[in-house]
Amino acid sequence: MRFETVAIHAGTQVTDSRKPVTQPITLSTIFEHQEDSLIYTRASNPNRLALENLLAKLEKGRDAAAFSSGNAAGMAVFQALPAGSHVIAPEDMYHGLRLQLTELYKGKLEVSFVDMTRPEEIGKALRPHTALLWLETPSNPLLKITDIIAACQQVKDVPSIKVVCDNTFATPVFQNPLDLGADIVMHSSTKYLGGHSDILGGALITKEEDAFWEQIRLVQKVGGAVPSPFDCYYLTRSIKTLAYRMKGHAEHAGIIATYLENHPNVQRVFYPGVKSHEGFEVASAQMSGFGGMLSFLYNGSAEETDRAIRKLKYFTNATSLGGVESLIERRAAVEGPDTTTPQNLVRVSVGLEHLDDLLGDLDGALG
Ligand SMILES: *Cc1c(COP(=O)(O)O)cnc(C)c1O
Repeated sequence: MRFETVAIHAGTQVTDSRKPVTQPITLSTIFEHQEDSLIYTRASNPNRLALENLLAKLEKGRDAAAFSSGNAAGMAVFQALPAGSHVIAPEDMYHGLRLQLTELYKGKLEVSFVDMTRPEEIGKALRPHTALLWLETPSNPLLKITDIIAACQQVKDVPSIKVVCDNTFATPVFQNPLDLGADIVMHSSTKYLGGHSDILGGALITKEEDAFWEQIRLVQKVGGAVPSPFDCYYLTRSIKTLAYRMKGHAEHAGIIATYLENHPNVQRVFYPGVKSHEGFEVASAQMSGFGGMLSFLYNGSAEETDRAIRKLKYFTNATSLGGVESLIERRAAVEGPDTTTPQNLVRVSVGLEHLDDLLGDLDGALG
């Protein structure tokens, strides 16, 4: 089965003899004791099983674990590490997960933040107790590209080091990190997998069902940050159209990136699909499409940038990404006073509205 077919069929595991074509929502938190039955929804649920089966297939892994948010999925990885482990993470890691490492796990895990666009930096950061290499590509908000094969190569002599890749921006439609050497893929399914800005969720997909994965499963079950049957149902439903949504997002983002590159009030565009991007070649090799996220530097101060954003009609000034509707935000305003993001950096989640409406809207607002 190809991707689109898996997306539509692998998320249905119907046991009802009347054969409903879509998976019903099983709200019961408890199941009557019998051999091989489920027991309690925190441990498992039919809708979660269907979702996890679907995610494992889409990322070409052996198994998947669904969580109540992307952050909960990331935290399950950190929680599964032995105390005092050393973690190598990107300097521009998604800020919520970076905050887990610097605040929640302060004194519990050691962290080195490195520039992942230079894989040799990973080798230099290795310590005897390094247990995890965390990757995120394309990164947020500068769309930096990490060469996943080269990054994995840096730790291949130490098989105990797990490589986890946050694949939220690329989605399994455009990039499969397990094929490129990663051990585990992480997703915030709140974004493109959900795709309609109405479900919070996260997931991990593993290449091997090894001892580390067992530990992650234990964190999921005992820690209890699991998605509801309702959320699992909606996510499974959304994923059926993922491939088609991603094609639209990427087509629009490519055209808008080129438009912005030629706009006099735009200083610089960050999109891995334009030749001027420093990660263009690596992205072309490891991704089959460049995704729907881009950012750019507006030619003006923070206030002038905010004023331009306020003029937009179809790009809503809101955080998050990956929904059918276009979103825009001045990233530094969201990240707070200690951010290193330039004050005039604008991040765009390009949606699926008609392209002419989006381009017309940008024309009116950017001057
Ligand atoms: C949003 C996001 C997360 C966190 O996911 P939540 O579902 O918001 O907890 C992690 N990584 C990336 C790249 C994200 O965009």
